[in-house]
Amino acid sequence: MGRSHLIKPVLGNNYPVISHGKGIYLYDKEGNQYIDGSSGAITANIGHGVHEIAEAMWNQAKHVSFVYRSQFTSDAAEQLAEKLANYAPGDLNSVFFVNSGSEATETALKVAIQYFQEQGIVTKTKVISRWTSYHGITLGALSMSGHPLRRQRFTSLLEDFPAAPAPYCYQCPLNETYPGCGVKCADDLENIIQTLGPDQIAAFIAEPVIGASGGAIVPPDEYFKKIRAVCDKYNILLIADEVMTGMGRTGKMFAMEHWNVIPDIIALGKGMSAGYTPMAATIVSDRIMDVIEAGTKVVMSGHTFSANPQSAAVCLAVIEFMEKYKLQENAAAMGEYLVNHLQRLQWKYPLIGDVRGKGLLCGIEFVKDPITREPFELSSKVVDRLLSICFTKGLLVYPAVGGVTGFSGDSILVSPPLTVTKEQISDMVDILDQSISELTTQLI
Ligand code: PLP
Repeated sequence: MGRSHLIKPVLGNNYPVISHGKGIYLYDKEGNQYIDGSSGAITANIGHGVHEIAEAMWNQAKHVSFVYRSQFTSDAAEQLAEKLANYAPGDLNSVFFVNSGSEATETALKVAIQYFQEQGIVTKTKVISRWTSYHGITLGALSMSGHPLRRQRFTSLLEDFPAAPAPYCYQCPLNETYPGCGVKCADDLENIIQTLGPDQIAAFIAEPVIGASGGAIVPPDEYFKKIRAVCDKYNILLIADEVMTGMGRTGKMFAMEHWNVIPDIIALGKGMSAGYTPMAATIVSDRIMDVIEAGTKVVMSGHTFSANPQSAAVCLAVIEFMEKYKLQENAAAMGEYLVNHLQRLQWKYPLIGDVRGKGLLCGIEFVKDPITREPFELSSKVVDRLLSICFTKGLLVYPAVGGVTGFSGDSILVSPPLTVTKEQISDMVDILDQSISELTTQLI
């Protein structure tokens, strides 16, 4: 048989063909059931096969599916922007629609640079990010990503943006211990700014809870307050990459609400459409929009499908579904329940070094030695093995590896749809229990 016409993540691998999904379950054409314990890529927030969304699609498609944003606007896009602005904190009142999380963070980068240009400040063109971060795969977004594994092939094309240490207390990059450290990683941002010169820096970007590169790393409570103060001191914008954490995933609409810190720009994606359509957004503050409106009046970005009415109608229906079934609240309650159960597994298996998370963005980090926190060698492929064991038992979890050079960082994300129930969590944890037991035997 020849090569498949569809380019898949790993060439030559056999991927099951999915026939349908319902709630937290997916079914392949052979009749196998999978518990979607990762919401795909932390995306299917309202679960699969929701009828209300199919109806909203049809209702919009009957009228019009596409208009070009330079020619028309639409009720659906206007209503979605208003809805997001109403949920967003502070003066984050204006929304730019794009099609993926990468485009949302890249638009944030461009808006930040433009904000200073419009004021005649042309040297502020760099964005500081953090090691152990992921902001997307397009070149601008990848330039901001502290993810060696995903950067390495393209380093010559990437901007050499500076990176601060991440608030990764379990494996502190500064070899400090919280709380004695005084959250030195946040102070380090100030050192970097002073070294490079504040006149060079437009923004600092961070995931409120680090996802794909670290496995639900939650910062200390003081961290973002300190970061906000440093940004303000040096006239640097704060971009919150809420592509993974936003839309109720952590038990609040936006994860930054956990610390009452208001960013200048928020990037959204994934859960915004819950996977029912490719749509993402960059939410921008009045402070920035006032400057652009008084200047060129044109936010210099845009894609053919930006503000697509069909996609906007879908996202509106997703948010209405979340409101109707109080999914934010369920994420907070079920997240606690899930972490408690995962902690029980931690007592049972020494290779579980850390269990952490906020709401239903939960992570498990695996280590060779739970006392010294020594990681496994890269060659042990701990996460690959666990993923494949879980898969054969009908459970999907998400790999969170590769965020730190030369360190396997063996973490997974356990992040089911926000509709998940206690019984379903118990089923997931039972499969994880059996899978980690099997993994332990393999590693001995
Ligand atoms: N930002 C964060 C925090 C992400 O987790 C991701 C994807 O995993 C992205 C940006 C990129 O989003 P997309 O894959 O939709 O381009």
